[in-house]
Amino acid sequence: MPSLPALRRPLERLNGPATAVRCPYCADSTNRVIDSRLGRDGSEIRRRRECVECGRRFTTRERVEEVFPKIVKRDERREDFRRDKILVAVRKACEKRPVSADALDRLVDRVERSAQELGAKEVSTRTIGERVLAELVELDTLAAARFASVFSNFENAGDYAAFFRDLGKSERSR
Ligand SMILES: [Zn+2]
Repeated sequence: MPSLPALRRPLERLNGPATAVRCPYCADSTNRVIDSRLGRDGSEIRRRRECVECGRRFTTRERVEEVFPKIVKRDERREDFRRDKILVAVRKACEKRPVSADALDRLVDRVERSAQELGAKEVSTRTIGERVLAELVELDTLAAARFASVFSNFENAGDYAAFFRDLGKSERSR
């Protein structure tokens, strides 16, 4: 179980190290992604970028398999990054909680973007899980506890108690 203060690291970086996209106007390679969305058939991702040098905006299209890292599972098997799987997990955690479907979509968007912006070829399920958990903590504490219980294999009431104790500590230290 990761400590909660550690989960409060910024979830996104402005520039993933893998971003070597040049501005079509001034050819500078420093730009930030302001919006990422999946194309209709799911095979490409469109990114709206803003050049840090000249401030102009432009759109890039990238193949999905190039921008998403492979997910390394606990048993070392690799699988494709699956947005729908994350959505199912957070929906389950938020069942009967006052959280809108829209908020969940946005949460998964942020997790997805942070996974792309890591710029790594592979990322562990643990890393993804920690990001999801950090997002859920901001959204709904009970949902976060539910997610953590599945994600970290909570075994008894003591684990839940520890989770809420850590959470209380990190809330106070804000
Ligand atoms: Zn530029």
